[in-house]
Amino acid sequence: MQKISVGVLGATGMVGQNYITLLNDHPWFEVRYVAASPRSAGKKYKDAVKGRWQLTASYAPHVGELIVQDANDISRAADACKQGECSFVFSALEMGKDETRALEEAYAAAGIPVISNASAHRWTPDVPVLIPEVNHEHTDIIPAQRKARGWDKGFIAVKPNCSIQSYMMPVHALVRAGYPVQRLIVTTMQAVSGAGYPGVPSLDMIDNIVPYIGGEEEKSEKEPLKIFGAIEDGVIQNAAFPKISAHCNRVPVTDGHTACVSLEFGEQKPPSIEAIKKIWTDFRGIPQKLDFPMAPKQPIIVSEEDNRPQPRKDRDLDKAMAVAVGRVRPCNVFDIRFTALSHNTVRGAAGGGILNAELLRHKGYLG
Ligand code: NAP
Repeated sequence: MQKISVGVLGATGMVGQNYITLLNDHPWFEVRYVAASPRSAGKKYKDAVKGRWQLTASYAPHVGELIVQDANDISRAADACKQGECSFVFSALEMGKDETRALEEAYAAAGIPVISNASAHRWTPDVPVLIPEVNHEHTDIIPAQRKARGWDKGFIAVKPNCSIQSYMMPVHALVRAGYPVQRLIVTTMQAVSGAGYPGVPSLDMIDNIVPYIGGEEEKSEKEPLKIFGAIEDGVIQNAAFPKISAHCNRVPVTDGHTACVSLEFGEQKPPSIEAIKKIWTDFRGIPQKLDFPMAPKQPIIVSEEDNRPQPRKDRDLDKAMAVAVGRVRPCNVFDIRFTALSHNTVRGAAGGGILNAELLRHKGYLG
């Protein structure tokens, strides 16, 4: 099979570097276009990331030789598209929200589909916020999005905030099994890599916890409702439940966001702890049924050990794409509580974006 050429916007950053390495041997996609800020533009990729490479895995030799383009230069990207260097782009840019929104729209208007990690378009009503195991059917909004904006080939699809990734699948699995969740309280402990590089100053993080991450609690409380929502009249209508209260904290962990979650099922009798573990262990979504290359074989892995999941020991489960859950037990205030963990720069960012691209290709929107 001929691989589809892809571009990575923000290729030099923390998430961008993860895209580059995760796509090294991808069977469907090949990186042939890289772009970042004007500071990096014009340099070979290997020179642009010299001294700031964050990962143990390296980039493919041909990517090291690519010249980094200015991500703001749409006409250069459109030329690259015409020359077959990039059929669509992954967007991992760290810019102002308005700038990011406008730039991603300009790519889509130029006929280049955008699969984004940025939050700029997560609240745009006709842009799907995808977790393929949870709401793959939201890709059906794309024809309406294209029509409303006069785009032919281009569109925008995004992935949600990395901090909600660990508990969205477990909650969805329970809802799908017939246990609608009414209320949810979550406390997150989020890794420093979530803030990009160089990120939070070391003197703020060593021997410390910071009980505030700008905008994170609002995202955690709103985004799940869109993901659990339904397409109506060309937009995604939010679900009414669960009501969510989130506390988000930055902790001195390199990778892996942990969440302590309490759930209430409302009037309905809650499932037993054993039933919950079985629902989670048996849960499979479209990526597993269709065996997508980036998909974990078992998306939710339940630990029986009292002191798990832990970031260092559990974040890399199955290509760092599986969600680890443990400590499932009754809750004295709500019905049940548990701890969940996912890798923020892989499942929560680049790996999640690649899984979205695999879903979109399967549905015929790419390539
Ligand atoms: P980062 O390490 O700061 O990287 C930012 C990237 O954006 C770099 O490639 C940078 O290029 C480029 N950039 C900055 N200003 C630009 C400009 N004016 N024009 C064009 N390019 C510009 O950030 P990150 O952590 O990778 O995050 C990238 C995006 O993913 C953000 O929207 C973030 O919210 C989102 N996200 C991050 C995570 C995570 O765990 N880190 C998880 C989910 C989503 P230079 O190298 O040339 O400066």
